[in-house]
Amino acid sequence: MARKTSRSGLPGSVAILWLRHDLRLSDHRALAAALDEFGLIVPVFVLDESDENRWALGGASRWWLHHSLAALGAALRKRQSELVLRRGDSVSILRDLVRETGAAALFCGETHEPWLRSLTDAVEKAVGVPVHRRRVSTLFDAEAIRTKSGGQYSVYGPFARACRAQPEPEDPLPAPQSIPSPKRMPRSDALDDWGLLPKKPDWSGGFDTMWTPGEAGADKKLKSFLKDRLDGYGASRNVPGDPQGTSMLSPHLHWGEISPNQVWHAAKQAADRKKAKSGWDSFSGELLWHDFSAYLLRYNPEMPEKPLRAAYAKLPWRRDKAGMRAWQQGRTGIPIVDAGMRQLWRHGWMHNRVRMITASFLVKHMLVSWQDGEAWFFDTLVDADLATNAASWQWIGGCGTDSQPFFRVFNPVTQGKTHDPDGRYVRHYVPELKALPDRWLHCPWQAPQSVLGKAGLVLGRDYPKPILDLDRGRDRALDAYRKHVRGA
Ligand code: FAD
Repeated sequence: MARKTSRSGLPGSVAILWLRHDLRLSDHRALAAALDEFGLIVPVFVLDESDENRWALGGASRWWLHHSLAALGAALRKRQSELVLRRGDSVSILRDLVRETGAAALFCGETHEPWLRSLTDAVEKAVGVPVHRRRVSTLFDAEAIRTKSGGQYSVYGPFARACRAQPEPEDPLPAPQSIPSPKRMPRSDALDDWGLLPKKPDWSGGFDTMWTPGEAGADKKLKSFLKDRLDGYGASRNVPGDPQGTSMLSPHLHWGEISPNQVWHAAKQAADRKKAKSGWDSFSGELLWHDFSAYLLRYNPEMPEKPLRAAYAKLPWRRDKAGMRAWQQGRTGIPIVDAGMRQLWRHGWMHNRVRMITASFLVKHMLVSWQDGEAWFFDTLVDADLATNAASWQWIGGCGTDSQPFFRVFNPVTQGKTHDPDGRYVRHYVPELKALPDRWLHCPWQAPQSVLGKAGLVLGRDYPKPILDLDRGRDRALDAYRKHVRGA
């Protein structure tokens, strides 16, 4: 006898749920829509490493994906379902699965990534059944956010105001209690056979201590942040040495283990309870930046590769292999830059303020292209997000539509002194500088020999001398900008 869903789906009828960046069961509008209409659901994740996708998963993302899929598989089993894993060409795999299961429809989340959008179109053409897309990873429907003349926003401020003028994002949906599956589920690959985890060497030790991928981990992070951190968020979000100054939800949001709607509503309720208006204003503003990045990518599919302001393509970027390696390894001799790059390598994540400092150092002081930095972040971040990463690098590089001007160059010493005044962050990630007094911590090359001696530090031996002179690096960047962008 055909099983009946707990909702109103037609008994015996099958739908495929194609999961991508929406690895959750609660507030999943594609899953809810499938359950409303169909009695039996086949949840599928396809690892498609097509050469056509120029932005294949980086190492840190693969680590996250492994654990996230394991968590999702377990959550599905608790609901009498199973996650079907397949590796290869999405179009042929989904076409075959539709035939094999007799599915009458395919449901998936809306995406803003160019390759995934074209892939969804190709799947729609091939499978021969209706493909239903639902918004699962943004607060607002991009199509509804239009300027008065019906165009698209290119600047964050008016975009955010237009979002705030919309009706509130929908209330989150609870996870279904059961997700009925066909008597015979299609065969699944074994997750371990995908080799997503690093082996030789296994660099993920520092990830385990920091992250619990999956829906439960996301929920825990959100609750702990809202419990007592939201009130002071406006200030604490700029203190990299405060391990709880921000929510650390970014990888969970990227992989869709929690929806922006869930975060929005939970934060709003917490702010109302605690009368934390300013915390809410800043935090909701960041969630809108997340939406804005997705919006920009949707309407500018070349954003990850090309500057949004064409004149910036003329900047004479330097090829600097040794400098790039020093930057990647956190050995530039500039403490706050090195601390950030080491945090990234150790935990697959970096504090936002330090992302700005390290990115600015690369693009301006080193005059290395923002695309090179973007690629390194994409490979090493657990929250590597095509839209946000590209939009942020363009913002730093001055070439985004809504950027900080190129001629505004972050001074990493001043930034360090302002945002890490007690040196907690730098001392944690650059322990060789631990014994230096605060005054010299962010600029050890300026410290008197006697101070270095007392701290047991020889520059060039225990810690690198700076790879460049900050003033000269800044002047070189400004010169290049004047000649090639402003004068163009
Ligand atoms: P919180 O401060 O707690 O903010 C809550 C959420 O708001 C975040 O999880 C994120 O989804 C969103 N958010 C916060 N800041 C921004 C921002 N500036 N732009 C867009 N959304 C934001 N974020 C990514 O998720 N993936 C990336 O690949 C990425 N690359 C970046 C590259 C550079 C050069 C820079 C400067 C920033 C980048 N960011 C990226 C944005 C930001 O640094 C991270 O979202 C933030 O540090 C994540 O920490 P959190 O979850 O504790 O943020």
